[in-house]
Amino acid sequence: MENGSGKVLKPMDSEQLREYGHRMVDFIADYYKTIEDFPVLSQVQPGYLHKLLPDSAPDHPETLDQVLDDVRAKILPGVTHWQSPSFFAYYPSNSSVAGFLGEMLSAGLGIVGFSWVTSPAATELEMIVLDWLAKLLNLPEQFMSKGNGGGVIQGSASEAVLVVLIAARDKVLRSVGKNALQKLVVYSSDQTHSALQKACQIAGIHPENCRVLKTDSSTNYALRPELLQEAVSQDLDAGLIPFFLCANVGTTSSTAVDPLAALGKIANRNEMWFHVDAAYAGSACICPEYRQYIDGVETADSFNMNAHKWFLTNFDCSLLWVKDQDSLTLALSTNPEFLKNKASQANLVVDYKDWQIPLGRRFRSLKLWMVLRLYGSETLKSYIRNHIKLAKEFEQLVSQDPNFEIVTPRIFSLVCFRLVPVKNEEKKCNNRNRELLDAVNSSGKLFISHTALSGKIVLRCAIGAPLTEEKHVKEAWKVIQEEASYLLHK
Ligand code: PLP
Repeated sequence: MENGSGKVLKPMDSEQLREYGHRMVDFIADYYKTIEDFPVLSQVQPGYLHKLLPDSAPDHPETLDQVLDDVRAKILPGVTHWQSPSFFAYYPSNSSVAGFLGEMLSAGLGIVGFSWVTSPAATELEMIVLDWLAKLLNLPEQFMSKGNGGGVIQGSASEAVLVVLIAARDKVLRSVGKNALQKLVVYSSDQTHSALQKACQIAGIHPENCRVLKTDSSTNYALRPELLQEAVSQDLDAGLIPFFLCANVGTTSSTAVDPLAALGKIANRNEMWFHVDAAYAGSACICPEYRQYIDGVETADSFNMNAHKWFLTNFDCSLLWVKDQDSLTLALSTNPEFLKNKASQANLVVDYKDWQIPLGRRFRSLKLWMVLRLYGSETLKSYIRNHIKLAKEFEQLVSQDPNFEIVTPRIFSLVCFRLVPVKNEEKKCNNRNRELLDAVNSSGKLFISHTALSGKIVLRCAIGAPLTEEKHVKEAWKVIQEEASYLLHK
């Protein structure tokens, strides 16, 4: 590896791994130590890296020092620091020492666990850890691996909704005939993540059969069951086939929570697949006081939360539970000769390749297992509660300033706020909020994001980065106020 002149490459030499591995861990630990020195949002211009890196790959080995020097000088300026304590944009994507160690172990073992036989521990640990988490969330027994249900780790909430949509599509087509695809109708609120739209595009659902039901501030952007019932009845009258409902617990824009029990009743009555997207807020539901937000999940066919958002498990780790694993495997399984083995043929095992889109899969359960074991559920609950407490404090600071307003009531750790309109001039107000967003983010001191609710441009402060403390929240508010004051007086 040191030179290219005839030496045979030993790509996994254990002594080199030990030496370089230690140095890389030191490099990453130093990164975390100095993370607050970087602008949170990368300030580079598009195409910056092409100017800094050569046009082709090296013919001969370079040293680790050379590469790390380039990481410092050329890569880090183009990194937006998601793990910075002043990262408040989108939703958090937690990393942790436990999650990092699990990733490291997974990379170290280097297995590809698509079938049970390819690494029995990978499949069995995933089943066990998802059962553990189902218990922490108090999900109904049917979601556990004992019966016909169970959990699986997907790469993203987008993959999760796609696989259950395909399962639901094939299930209904098996009963009504495969030529009925153009009659299948999907329902969701207009606050549902665009992942559902993408899933519908991939699954061949006709765009005119995607019912995006309107929400507004009267329900804090939650879907009204009456609206769903009305849409379903109209579609039935028109000879269409309602088959899939996606509800939200914690929408991306504003953490709206749909009334699961009432929606589930309608879905169950009409034999529709009912999917619950709790990608961000699901983590909070391990706390007994927040569990109420998934009441009604017993009526659902599938439930999803991203452990990689707010559960200290490094990206990617999206947890999906289903009640009926057969629906998934009937839609997604293949059985080529080159993958046949005794355990699978005898139906003795779960082969997760049949629960997901790709064949290959990493040993992702290790990192979730490490998180649960190294922290324990009580510590994880405190971690979540602390972020919610910080969000409450931020909300209070905003509401004390007459130039600002809270746009929707805060439920978890996201605060939606904006500069208030002057003389009811909404358009001007939107522009001013956009300007404020740009000014705050280009300061490099923090990073927040935005959304639109009922035509209003809204600023989002999502508290949940692992290193965030009260002082960062206070400092963030100070910067926002300073930039706002500059804008309002210019
Ligand atoms: N659903 C909700 C509620 C989300 O907030 C997000 C992302 O923030 C997604 C789905 C999509 O997540 P992923 O990136 O895991 O596909």
